[in-house]
Amino acid sequence: MEMIRFEKAYEIVMNSSFPAENEIIYYTNSLNRILAGDVISDIDMPPFNKSSVDGFACLKSELGEEMEIIETVPAGTPPVKTLGKLQCTRIMTGAVVPSGADCIFMVEDSEILSSGKVRFKGSFTKENIAIKGEDVKKGDIVLRPGKQIKPQDIAVMASVGCIEVKVSCRPRVAVISSGDELVEPHEYPGLSQIRNSNAFQLMAQAERSGALGEYYGIARDDEEKTFKIVEKAISECDIVLISGGVSMGDFDFVPSVLERAGTKILFTRVAVQPGKPTTFGVHQKALVFGLPGNPVSSFIQFELLVRPLICKMMGHQWQPATMQLPMKDSFSRLFADRMAWVPVRITGDRCVSTVEYHGSAHIFSLHEADGIISVPVDIKMIEKGQIVDLRLL
Ligand code: AMP
Ligand code: MG
Repeated sequence: MEMIRFEKAYEIVMNSSFPAENEIIYYTNSLNRILAGDVISDIDMPPFNKSSVDGFACLKSELGEEMEIIETVPAGTPPVKTLGKLQCTRIMTGAVVPSGADCIFMVEDSEILSSGKVRFKGSFTKENIAIKGEDVKKGDIVLRPGKQIKPQDIAVMASVGCIEVKVSCRPRVAVISSGDELVEPHEYPGLSQIRNSNAFQLMAQAERSGALGEYYGIARDDEEKTFKIVEKAISECDIVLISGGVSMGDFDFVPSVLERAGTKILFTRVAVQPGKPTTFGVHQKALVFGLPGNPVSSFIQFELLVRPLICKMMGHQWQPATMQLPMKDSFSRLFADRMAWVPVRITGDRCVSTVEYHGSAHIFSLHEADGIISVPVDIKMIEKGQIVDLRLL
């Protein structure tokens, strides 16, 4: 199968997406979930003309006159009296403004006279009244689908009485590692063995993207055993990630196993570095990625292809966070036949600097990195001082 450009691979993956189902959950459990329906207010906000200060409610035209205090209105208790001429009420923040008042002057601007009356002693006052419905009207849509729910959205739901909320189901992402050389992290690797770091990196990436990661273990370099695990993962999950076994080695039979399991392979080579052997296929039950075994490659290909897919499935209008900053030093490469993604960090003087990077097996490069920058096909050089788009990790 021919090598395709990264942009084409991205388009193929995104066009293969299918929408996740929705579910109704209790609003306090909805943090970080993706909203899938409108949240509508069942009240005006504020629900009544509300005092925004502690002070005295009166007629603005009578400011400066001595006024009789006819009652005290705390928050949570409605006023019973209507103001008459030269009358006011003592009022607390959050309390209902009595009828007949159009202004509240603050305690700080008041003077209680020996007669028991009160007088405004300032030179100017605002109205200090939040008008009923000025923030939101009953029936208004206050939150719309596609947004990721933040703590402040939960406050909105609480204030409009939306205690049950429709969200997208979290796609289930199967994670499989392939390779005879792998041992699990709690084991000490023997000669020729390495620890399986990819699976847990991918599980964490899936979780961070809002999906549910499901670990299916290590598939040994045995076609039959790999087939069994892949088949099970496809039948149980929405997205299947298998890392390793997609290169050109003698035991790299993942693409053929995927085909045998009923997956239609759409690409097996992408002009991107790291991550050339990235493989993608569609199955009736799941979308399947064969990711390169090298941890930097699988990490970056997940960020570039799988994360946007997960977000799209959930209807999440997500864009990677980016920053535009100048290069600290120039960057150059010998070959420019592939798009490159280079791990970089932000320096103290707010420039972009490449991190020490020994290639796609160098896991330790990524934890130093704040982000990655792309170098397009045919570009061999980025000049010192040139502004680049840093994609935050
Ligand atoms: P492969 O894609 O199977 O040819 O693997 C490429 C490189 O990635 C090899 O050096 C593997 O040992 C390494 N590798 C494969 N799978 C993992 C994994 N799960 N964790 C860490 N490294 C891996
Ligand atoms: Mg392998």
